[in-house]
Amino acid sequence: MGKIFVITSGKGGVGKTTTAINLGAALNSFGEEVIIADGNLSTPNVGLHLGAPIVPVSLTHVLLGKAKLDEAIYEHESGTKILPCSLSIKEMSKIKKDKLYDVSKKLRKLADYIILDSAAGLGEEALAAIESGDEVIIVTNPELPSVTDALKAASVVRDLGKEIKGVIITRVQKDGLDMPYSNIKEMLELPILGVIPEDKSVRKALVRKDAVFHTHPKSGASRAYKEIAAKISGRYKPREKLSMYQSLMARFGLR
Ligand code: ADP
Ligand code: MG
Repeated sequence: MGKIFVITSGKGGVGKTTTAINLGAALNSFGEEVIIADGNLSTPNVGLHLGAPIVPVSLTHVLLGKAKLDEAIYEHESGTKILPCSLSIKEMSKIKKDKLYDVSKKLRKLADYIILDSAAGLGEEALAAIESGDEVIIVTNPELPSVTDALKAASVVRDLGKEIKGVIITRVQKDGLDMPYSNIKEMLELPILGVIPEDKSVRKALVRKDAVFHTHPKSGASRAYKEIAAKISGRYKPREKLSMYQSLMARFGLR
């Protein structure tokens, strides 16, 4: 049975979709079956980020009862599977949000990990995505408004009785203006799963309609996403801190 991670945030534009597609790509690179699903029903982005803005059958059709789930799952050229939503608002208005919960039950049978990109905020769309998942990952930028809204999102997730895996801090600039991570951790009372640097490669990847994890695997953002994917799939081995003597021995193969 697969596990559904919901990627959510309090504030919009913080890096949720980027996080969803790169965690998905990284988990996929470990040999896991992954589906990146667009739970952001009214302003879907997963298809846009991955070069499938318009598809004949989407999650929207499945939620409207007009198509079967497997008809709406596509394979990106990288091999990652995606479940996009339609951009049309007309169709969207007819969707009953709790249908997503029923679809999520079927999704768990189709992959090891389902990464569900959600809408920002505390509206019914975000709630429907959170209720459909198993664990929630909250994305924030290292700025007070973003963290304050993340706090509200965390409280809503807790009220729904869902477990929060942790927080990902994205678009970190290290220019001295970022909020200290210790303050973010303290404010949210949640573990920090990882920190993603502000990285030009992310926008280059967007132009190439692929995950930065594929287009620039050695970039800071890709490495950071890979480490988080290792953590959430139980593969993470913290790097051993060696003394100078130990490092020297290791360098000569004596350790
Ligand atoms: P959300 O889904 O929360 O609205 P997105 O993932 O769409 O956010 O990201 C918003 C914008 O920020 C996009 O233009 C994206 O390319 C950019 N972005 C996201 N993460 C990074 C990063 N680590 N470095 C640079 N730009 C980023
Ligand atoms: Mg988005």
